Amino acid sequence: MKIAFIGLGNMGGGMAANLVRAGHEVHAFDLSPEALSKAAENGCATHSAVPDAVAGADAVVTMLPNGGIVKAVYTADVIGKAPAGALFIDCSTIDLATAREVTQAAIDAGYDMVDAPVSGGIAAANGGTLTFMVGGSEAAFDKARPVLEPMAKAVIRAGDSGAGQVAKMCNNMLLAIHMIGTCEALALADKAGLDPQTFYEISSKSTGYCWSLNDYTPAPGVGAASPADNGYAGGFASALMLKDLRLAMGGAETAGASVPLGEHAAKIYEAFVEAGNGGKDFGAIFTTL
Ligand code: NAD
Repeated sequence: MKIAFIGLGNMGGGMAANLVRAGHEVHAFDLSPEALSKAAENGCATHSAVPDAVAGADAVVTMLPNGGIVKAVYTADVIGKAPAGALFIDCSTIDLATAREVTQAAIDAGYDMVDAPVSGGIAAANGGTLTFMVGGSEAAFDKARPVLEPMAKAVIRAGDSGAGQVAKMCNNMLLAIHMIGTCEALALADKAGLDPQTFYEISSKSTGYCWSLNDYTPAPGVGAASPADNGYAGGFASALMLKDLRLAMGGAETAGASVPLGEHAAKIYEAFVEAGNGGKDFGAIFTTL
């Protein structure tokens, strides 16, 4: 299959390489020359403009920083430039309104489109083990699945257009809340005289178990291996968690949903990022307690 891939950063670079490994002809574009030359090393054909990359493509995959960029790329350079009937897959994490608007514009112009944001970080992008949460018609999902599978551990249809972004914002709001709760519980155990490792052994087998505690323990040297054991380097940056929380807060406002703990988590990550910690793994909230 001929696949155009736009946005070859931390995530998209590894994803495009996995499509090449699966035998697809991948045509890549990124504004960054470094990202493009890495894509060439990984077997992609590279282009100096989006319309060149999408010419003749059966599918277009995008992995871009935000909704404004996604909208600009699709409206200026993909819709009307890719062949009629091509499938568009936006894997970026963006706001729901923009996701639905861009999909509608693509459908109106005769294309199929799904939103397909991912769970899993750079290691999962490189390893082909992302979870894709897909919003779009059943027919579009059936076309998208074989494109996504070489990059995926799981490909799940969440519902109609935008449902993938809803799943992503709800998942990451929950993740932020249980990460902060895990940090608070570990710090409280320690300060109240209980060895944090002993607390981990008890709570990870009790009703306090959750992914942040069991699989990504945010206290150095305690429980499961995580970026905490490496000075909170790598992992999932606090700035990206704040981005996702802001998307969730915007989504909650539009939907009229009450999310008091989500709002509190957003404030905590905002203060942490503004204090210069945006590049640290999101488990580093532990260091503030
Ligand atoms: P990144 O900044 O590393 O990569 C984005 C790439 O897009 C860059 O290479 C940039 O040059 C390129 N780009 C920007 N504007 C462009 C344009 N107009 N045309 C072409 N290329 C353009 O970001 P990332 O970490 O790869 O994240 C990409 C998306 O994936 C974001 O929406 C992010 O929220 C989401 N995401 C990231 C992670 C993670 O752990 N990094 C995890 C899940 C989801």
